[in-house]
Amino acid sequence: MMRAIHSLVLGYLFAFTDAFLLRNVASSPHHATARYASSNSASSSALTTSLNVTIVGAGPAGLLLAHRLLEGGASVNIYEKRARPVLGTLLPGRAYALGIGRRGRTALQQAPNVWEAVRQAGFPSDRFRLHAGPVALKLRDSAGQQEPSLLCFQSDLCAALLKELEQQYSTDRLTIQFNVPVTNINFKDRTCQTKNGELVAFDLIVGCDGVNSVVREAMQKEWPAFKVTQRELPGKFKTVQLPNVPSDKLDPTAVSLVMPQKGSTTAFVEPVSDSGRCCVLFAGSNSSDPLLVSSDATEIEQVLQERYPSFRPEALTSAAEQLANIPKASQASSVQCNIYHYNDVAVLCGDAAHATGGVSGQGVNSALTDSVVLAECIHQSTSMREALNAYSMKQVPEGHALYDLSFPPPPSSKLEALGRTLGTLRDFIFRGRFGIGKLPIQVQLTTSLESFADIRRARMDGFPSQSEWERKLSTLDASAVASLSARGKETTSTK
Ligand SMILES: Cc1cc2nc3c(=O)[nH]c(=O)nc-3n(C[C@H](O)[C@H](O)[C@H](O)COP(=O)(O)OP(=O)(O)OC[C@H]3O[C@@H](n4cnc5c(N)ncnc54)[C@H](O)[C@@H]3O)c2cc1C
Repeated sequence: MMRAIHSLVLGYLFAFTDAFLLRNVASSPHHATARYASSNSASSSALTTSLNVTIVGAGPAGLLLAHRLLEGGASVNIYEKRARPVLGTLLPGRAYALGIGRRGRTALQQAPNVWEAVRQAGFPSDRFRLHAGPVALKLRDSAGQQEPSLLCFQSDLCAALLKELEQQYSTDRLTIQFNVPVTNINFKDRTCQTKNGELVAFDLIVGCDGVNSVVREAMQKEWPAFKVTQRELPGKFKTVQLPNVPSDKLDPTAVSLVMPQKGSTTAFVEPVSDSGRCCVLFAGSNSSDPLLVSSDATEIEQVLQERYPSFRPEALTSAAEQLANIPKASQASSVQCNIYHYNDVAVLCGDAAHATGGVSGQGVNSALTDSVVLAECIHQSTSMREALNAYSMKQVPEGHALYDLSFPPPPSSKLEALGRTLGTLRDFIFRGRFGIGKLPIQVQLTTSLESFADIRRARMDGFPSQSEWERKLSTLDASAVASLSARGKETTSTK
């Protein structure tokens, strides 16, 4: 009997977390520790004003970094391998909605007018519902006074950041090229090459180029002490867009996780505008599920009808057509690096440095934070090496802490697994009220500005202290200096 209850609870939670962990949905008042100065004016330094920066990747991290560096007086060249994002037009592969919580919002507020522009491109919602057959659970409702999380397509977020960037800065100091991937980087000469053959000189190159970063790859080739772990995460997903939430039973202002009547692929419905426009993410770990692999719209529609009988017929038809036209389901990856910079020449931000593939809903929030912290380290330092070192010392522990919080070590026994499951349920029910349990981790990450490292230390043992991180990172930084000068000598002797 106990076993049956245990597997029921676990099964439910795993099905639930399968999709839930891909999202963040909440926002509530919480004490905060600001991680960077909350002034939104970049103080320019001699280092920034004379700087010629190449940013690889015009995703959220690259575009916000450009704002902060241009504001401080730097010259910025951005190369992006995809097409220009246009508000309201979804780019393939960028069609999911992101939840921008308090961290992301605070970071965006550091650049003039940017938050306002982004807010208009998204839909604020705190509400989260779980639908399982006839049961509908309100897992979270409006958070009262605190500004709710903003649900926004990645491409709309980028389009809003880009529009502000081009409006605020002249082409004397800013160039942006779309459909132009960077292919090679030469750290010694401080040049990079684009796919169309252009050779670009820089003082500093910043890899804001996501999980498959070319800047990170070049650092790996050049410097043996630089270590990267990249893993494909279990589960696959496909996303569709609909003009209205697909069922009258769903609250059009809430994020809804809809459990299927059959099978394990869940539907995660996220509203993205007042009109009811939404995106639906179908996520599951059965790699032969027709919803994730079939290209036959009729077959998919039939499967959708069986699994989601409460969805309106026209929503099922449209979803089936879109699913059939997505050639391959996406799979998220995680990334961990032992340091984020290479001497005074290269540095990584956002998913290029650390990625959790949407698990725990902090990817874009932490990517935007990286950009603000990096710009601030540059503004406040007298040399680039000092700036990049300061950045790694602040952000490497953050990336590692977020990874641990997103992927806690597996339980060592069934008893521990049961204890964790019950603890999660308790936290969802009591949310730390009446002194019972804690705020659920998703809610804490989304609603506070407390560092991930502090949250990690408070929740689990075994995380290094800040001074331990700094010792480790100083040793690595010294090895980068030695590596770059050794490469210099090699190149000179072979000339
Ligand atoms: C399904 C899913 C749901 C998610 N949900 C959330 C959420 O709710 N909340 C949240 O905070 N995060 C979420 N995330 C994570 C979030 O999408 C990422 O963390 C975030 O987009 C990282 O921003 P970035 O700028 O670092 O990288 P990216 O957004 O990946 O941007 C990198 C850019 O670099 C470009 N590029 C790559 N290589 C090159 C090259 N060689 N030359 C030029 N350009 C290049 C790419 O085209 C891209 O535009 C989710 C992720 C997934 C997959």
